[in-house]
Amino acid sequence: MPGFELFSDKERKEVNDVLDSGVLMRYGFDAMRKGHWKALALEKALAERMEVNYAQVVSSGTAALTIALASAGIGAGDEVIMPTFTFVASFESILALGAVPILVNVDDTLTLDPKAVEQAITKSTKAVMPVHMCGSMADLRALKSICQDHRLLLLEDACQAIGGTFEGKPLGSYGDLGCFSFDYVKTITCGEGGAIITNNEKYYSNADHYSDHGHDHIGKDRGAEGHPFLGYNFRISELHAAVGLAQIQRLDEFLAIQKRNYLILRETLESIPEISFRRVPRGGEESYAFLSFFLPNVKMAKKVHTALGEEGVDGCFYWFDNNWHYYREWEHLIHKKSLGKLPKEVHEQLPDYSKSNFAQSDEWIGRNVSCLIKLGWTESEVQDKAKKMAKIIRDLLK
Ligand SMILES: *Cc1c(COP(=O)(O)O)cnc(C)c1O
Repeated sequence: MPGFELFSDKERKEVNDVLDSGVLMRYGFDAMRKGHWKALALEKALAERMEVNYAQVVSSGTAALTIALASAGIGAGDEVIMPTFTFVASFESILALGAVPILVNVDDTLTLDPKAVEQAITKSTKAVMPVHMCGSMADLRALKSICQDHRLLLLEDACQAIGGTFEGKPLGSYGDLGCFSFDYVKTITCGEGGAIITNNEKYYSNADHYSDHGHDHIGKDRGAEGHPFLGYNFRISELHAAVGLAQIQRLDEFLAIQKRNYLILRETLESIPEISFRRVPRGGEESYAFLSFFLPNVKMAKKVHTALGEEGVDGCFYWFDNNWHYYREWEHLIHKKSLGKLPKEVHEQLPDYSKSNFAQSDEWIGRNVSCLIKLGWTESEVQDKAKKMAKIIRDLLK
């Protein structure tokens, strides 16, 4: 990732189709559009590639998470379990519906710890939202069994792991619903965009209506459509969808490059005995979007991250201090800062995160460094990078 590194004539052709017809809207204008339905074609291609019955393409990954929760009836006062290590979109989507984000520890997979999930379940819990961070997945088998026992929704955030699999199934298709982001820095990009996938017809039709003002999309005339429930505008434009349509057809090409580059980096770093790698749950295959490893302690991880940056090895992240991805820096959530009043349920049920103890998460995230695997690297560039990284790390460990 990211997919923009390899833009080609394929993306240009799809975008030009849309500009030639002049129809930038995904619905209606049938007579003008010269047969081009890019959002619809992207949904078809995505559903096929992800081996599910339905896909709904929308304006962003954050929108996709919000719509997925809404489509399953999650609302005010419902608790949704999410990890301490994710992107801020996780709690934003939950709070947008008046639901309550319940933060839970991650383990050495860098994703939800199933034992911690079980302990966090209350009578208000309605959903579990694992986030497959940095190209690898949560233990979906364990989480599915917990969800079945407690009748909870399993919603996979696969925004950073498109193309990975669990027990042979594409990530996003294992739970009740799955979400992707096609924002500018993701493996498949539209500029801005996202998608919901599911095999559940009701969730799908709810998502379809909800993302377009509650319109039921029955009949040809938009003015005559019904609106069975309240919705919003989370539509994607045809221009964005056109880019995504070209990109999704290149997913396997991108995954092969990611895997090649990842393996070169990993094989070199494996020669350093003090380093260990994130655990991939049994049955899982990563998308190879990042290589994530652990140093022996927090101090060393910070040192390694700083030294890599100073020596010009770009694209390595120290999430522990990152204010988008780790709970320690989410001061807006911790201090319940909102522009208007928060829903009563959120105020009453939201744990006081300023007093929370996530020592287990701190242990793993504090020792972790994650390196983005770029698509644009040539084989010899990765080899040089790997050697340089290994030397920097070895020198620091001496
Ligand atoms: C990118 C991302 C999102 C949100 O996607 P946007 O399209 O940027 O709104 C959600 N979750 C994760 C894990 C992400 O990486």
